[in-house]
Amino acid sequence: MNIVVQKFGGTSVRNLECQRQVMQKVLRPYREGNKVIVVLSAMAGETNRLLALADEWSDNPDPAERDSLVSTGEQVSCALFAMLLKQQGVKARSVLGFQAPVCTNNAFGSARITDIDSEKLQKMLNEYDVLVVAGFQGCDAEQRITTLGRGGSDTSAVAMAAALDADVCEIYTDVPGVFTTDPNMCTEARKIDRIAYDEMLEMASMGAKVLQIRSVEFAQKYNVTVHVRSTFSDEPGTIVTQEDETMESVLVSGIAYDKDQARITLVHVKDTPGVSAAIFSPLAEQNILVDMIVQNPSKDGKTDMTFTVPRADVDQTIKTLEKLQYEIGYEELHSNINVSKVSIIGVGMRNHSGVASKAFQSLADENINILMISTSEIKVTCLIDDKYTELAVRTLHNAFQLENGDTTETP
Ligand code: ADP
Ligand code: ASP
Ligand code: MG
Repeated sequence: MNIVVQKFGGTSVRNLECQRQVMQKVLRPYREGNKVIVVLSAMAGETNRLLALADEWSDNPDPAERDSLVSTGEQVSCALFAMLLKQQGVKARSVLGFQAPVCTNNAFGSARITDIDSEKLQKMLNEYDVLVVAGFQGCDAEQRITTLGRGGSDTSAVAMAAALDADVCEIYTDVPGVFTTDPNMCTEARKIDRIAYDEMLEMASMGAKVLQIRSVEFAQKYNVTVHVRSTFSDEPGTIVTQEDETMESVLVSGIAYDKDQARITLVHVKDTPGVSAAIFSPLAEQNILVDMIVQNPSKDGKTDMTFTVPRADVDQTIKTLEKLQYEIGYEELHSNINVSKVSIIGVGMRNHSGVASKAFQSLADENINILMISTSEIKVTCLIDDKYTELAVRTLHNAFQLENGDTTETP
């Protein structure tokens, strides 16, 4: 049997009218004789509403109960959508994470998929033509409901496609594909026809929320081609796939930004072996993702340590480090939550120099101060004051002429 996997995000399922449009997308492969796995998100805004409820009820919500609560958003959209399909005479049913089952570890709030029972799904597909699967959720070894982190339905869909050996996983969303930067922030953004997994990974990890980073990791690992496209039009979107020669000739393929950042500085830390481990191990144990790290020698055998963490984790980070002040031996702790990361991404950077200096000059011309810098083979990231995010994105997009699609020249 030929299986098509399609995922629809929150804005695509937000009301009856939108769900009717989604149904047209699902009926097409169904009428062509395919079995269809439809992975759905919660209606737009619902996951935020449920998370806020948990915070209203408790100062420190139990992580397992919070997952049990927020996973209901997907349950609602799946049940409603399955009703629509059945009304059309389609043999369809909703499938929740524990029913598939989508097995995960027990890292509530950011669980990782460990296994999907493809045999059970295949059996269900013998009986039903369309399975409406709840994205974002799974269950752990103790049968407790888990969730996969924000944007996790993308990962649910790619994991389904990998488990069932589908040729392609279609991710339908509210924009027509992956763009050179967020089209809702920069009107000059251009749709990319094909993008390599590595580039997409960097874009996603640097804040382009059009795909959850883990979905791209999964796609790369299991060689699933992902097609990101619009629910509200028929135009072809962006193919996320293995790198090929045409991609390599592009110097810079996109600009990403992440406003969900905070900067922490520990002033005058002891400059001795083990001190970085003493700072970062306790944060890692709490699943706090530390990103940019800069260590500057100061005076008298001391060093300043500056790094970034997700904004939501800043209080927890400060609390943890304050408890360890004596052990780490720092003098002061400063934090700043008004920062954002802007990144320039492109596999073509591997073979060219000058991208970073061009970026720095363009930001300087706009009087934007760079607070921190980090680079990889295919990325340059600058931390800046978050009030300049939009300006920085547009400036860099313009500097690398991304609106023309002609970024092959060496700067
Ligand atoms: P869904 O609810 O369908 O999962 P998301 O809101 O998670 O949709 O992701 C789509 C959004 O990602 C777009 O509306 C857009 O604002 C944002 N986005 C950020 N960077 C990019 C990019 N480079 N290309 C396309 N969209 C982007
Ligand atoms: N509903 C979840 C969220 O808002 C998962 C998703 O939409 O992918 O993060
Ligand atoms: Mg999403």
